[in-house]
Amino acid sequence: MDQYVVFGNPIAQSKSPLIHTLFARQTSQSMHYAAQLVPLGEFRVAADAFFADGGRGCNVTVPFKEDAYQYADQLTERAKLAGAVNTLKKLDDGLVLGDNTDGEGLVQDLLQHQVTLADQRILLIGAGGAARGVILPLLAQQPSSITITNRTLAKAEALVDAFAAHGPVNAVALDELAGGQYDVIINSTSASLSGQLPGIPESLIQPSKVCYDMVYGSGPTTFNQWAQQLGAKVVLDGLGMLVGQAAESFMLWRGLRPGAKQVQRELRRLMQE
Ligand code: NDP
Repeated sequence: MDQYVVFGNPIAQSKSPLIHTLFARQTSQSMHYAAQLVPLGEFRVAADAFFADGGRGCNVTVPFKEDAYQYADQLTERAKLAGAVNTLKKLDDGLVLGDNTDGEGLVQDLLQHQVTLADQRILLIGAGGAARGVILPLLAQQPSSITITNRTLAKAEALVDAFAAHGPVNAVALDELAGGQYDVIINSTSASLSGQLPGIPESLIQPSKVCYDMVYGSGPTTFNQWAQQLGAKVVLDGLGMLVGQAAESFMLWRGLRPGAKQVQRELRRLMQE
């Protein structure tokens, strides 16, 4: 049976084994997917041992995405620009390919919910690893602009420098956003995890707007509760992105696209139990 794994620290909370087991069942693939806790500083040891034992591919989560980027022999363009890898695949020639499927997972989730991205003004809140990973896939949808804002503005400006050659990106400080118009507002900060709002003005949330929080949980996130109260048209959390990035990894490994919607529904049901 083909072996896959997700490496992380911590890892007990990871939903990836469940998601990939559901994908494998759905598509009749003979594969086993496990979760492995890797001690800090030992990513290379763990990955070497896994591939030496015949492992076919792995997902990589916090805090090893940069280690996986260093580990890969080859990188996809989106992984290069993200500066981080969440998926490794052993190629037929023995080399290891590194990819980053997080951004495509977000884009696919938005598109599945009939959210238009082409010609839209996107506001991306946050400038950490998650933001960096989604910019190129979002640009591929040809939005009219991506405005990046962040509590620490210099980090948003650094992302603009990194991506300016690839499309219309700009940075605006949180306290200069009032009066701006954005169609799709994506919160890539971890603020909801501590029950906080990321600090954008209320006036940006209007009934025609789409709001997306990359954080997810058993109920609505802090940001999504706020957006809902202010009457946003569409409010989505990051569970779909999580399943979407897994579907992209599965596609890379197995050459088959699993049905993400069905698995997302099942996962939501289990989380609410
Ligand atoms: P990082 O630590 O790299 O970046 C965190 C970002 O959040 C920074 O921009 C930081 O601002 C900002 N931030 C943190 N707390 C606050 C706050 N209270 N108010 C305003 N801004 C804040 O994390 P990642 O980018 O890797 O991840 C961000 C979130 O995205 C996480 O919660 C993670 O769970 C989620 N995520 C979800 C995925 C999914 O599949 N659904 C995939 C990947 C990530 P500053 O720079 O000023 O510190």
